[in-house]
Amino acid sequence: MSHGDDDYVRALAAAVRHSTAWLRSLPGRRVGPAAAAHDLTDSFGGPMPRGGMPAEDVVDLLARTAEPGLMAMPSGRFFGWVIGGTLPAALASDWLVSAWDQNAGLRYATPAMAAIEESAGHWLLELLGLPSGADVGFVTGATMANFTGMAAARWRLLADAGWDLDRDGLFGAPRIRCLVGRERHDTVDLGLRYLGLGKPAVVDADSQGRLIPGALDALLAEGSGPALVCLQAGNLHSGAFDPFPEAIRVARKHGAWVHIDGAFGLWAAAAPELRSLTRGYEEADSWGTDAHKTLNVPYDCGIAIVRDASALRSAMGLHASYLVHDAEGPGDPFEKVPELSRRARGVPVWAALKSLGSDGVAAQVRGLAAAAADIAAGLAGEEGVEVLNDVGYTQVCLAFGDDATTRAVTARIISDGRVWMSGSRWRDRDILRVSVSNWHTSEDEVRTAVDAVKAAFSAVRGG
Ligand SMILES: *Cc1c(COP(=O)(O)O)cnc(C)c1O
Repeated sequence: MSHGDDDYVRALAAAVRHSTAWLRSLPGRRVGPAAAAHDLTDSFGGPMPRGGMPAEDVVDLLARTAEPGLMAMPSGRFFGWVIGGTLPAALASDWLVSAWDQNAGLRYATPAMAAIEESAGHWLLELLGLPSGADVGFVTGATMANFTGMAAARWRLLADAGWDLDRDGLFGAPRIRCLVGRERHDTVDLGLRYLGLGKPAVVDADSQGRLIPGALDALLAEGSGPALVCLQAGNLHSGAFDPFPEAIRVARKHGAWVHIDGAFGLWAAAAPELRSLTRGYEEADSWGTDAHKTLNVPYDCGIAIVRDASALRSAMGLHASYLVHDAEGPGDPFEKVPELSRRARGVPVWAALKSLGSDGVAAQVRGLAAAAADIAAGLAGEEGVEVLNDVGYTQVCLAFGDDATTRAVTARIISDGRVWMSGSRWRDRDILRVSVSNWHTSEDEVRTAVDAVKAAFSAVRGG
């Protein structure tokens, strides 16, 4: 069978049919899934089939069976967690990445992928106002982006302390003191665990979850030796940003490496109206972000940015006799990420940036923050509704009196299905958490969200 054969054409045509039907269903469909995973395992499972099935039929069966178990996450009415949507250019180019099937690790072997990702990297640094010489690696998400940045930190801090990490590992190494804000994302702790750096020391935060620089200074002053400080751009509850100029000044005074987790917050730097939130953050050493959240490329794509390219390449690079290493150029993609073989995740990022332009990215990020502000404003005046955070970015935290009522309102919204929002706990209270991260969320979706919350609250009160 050749590659031009009808099997490919028919299977891809089926994928286009089902994808188009899915995308067309998004504006009107109920957001939550109609089936739970255990309702579907029988349809997908059973004994491993002995014989095969034509590719087109597999795609048809897959799409039909999956349909009731799909969450309308790419809909503008999905406000759960921070998920993002998918821009048309990003989605279509992601299909191309699969069709091309390039292993994007080696610059020499897949020159187009390397060139596209390098360009996307340069654009990102310019867009986000980060140092133009920094290394950019495309990983699966912010968890791995943070891990990658902190791995470079570990390598550099130990090298500066005279310790050969690659030869001697961590046993007997000088201890690296790791410090995080009280409201950092849990995946920062996970990254530190992967790196064998243990549990971080926790720095106190203010009412919006911003790390307090004075408290950081006091904790750092208690000890000495190598230190890694992890700051945050975009608190998952309040959307707040750590005070970078002050916190970085304190960290520098103690010789610490500064990493910033900006999974969805780094993008504030791309919008002139929001840029003050990230003021001073370019002075850090490394940054982790997601492209699958605020930029709206399909899952999965995160971005690791490291100023000290040699630390990153020392931590992630490898030399194998069978690989053809990039000698003249800017180095191989695999030197900047944990993986050797991987898909060209930077391609949909390039396509998203090309389709939007910097004005478009700015408008998109501004639009997300404006929608969050409008949802908060639409509910703030309602008797019994509390907006708990200062809404300055994309996050809104709501409470409805006591915890039980808030939980009931959350459950009611989810069962109503017009919008989807998740519950959480913040500042010792149950909350309804609204995250705006999808380019499809416009005035209509904002109105629907406000109406759905009001209706759920009044139903809970009345019942
Ligand atoms: C989502 C998120 C992460 C983890 O990102 P993944 O893409 O899920 O790996 C880390 N930090 C923050 C602030 C986040 O919002």
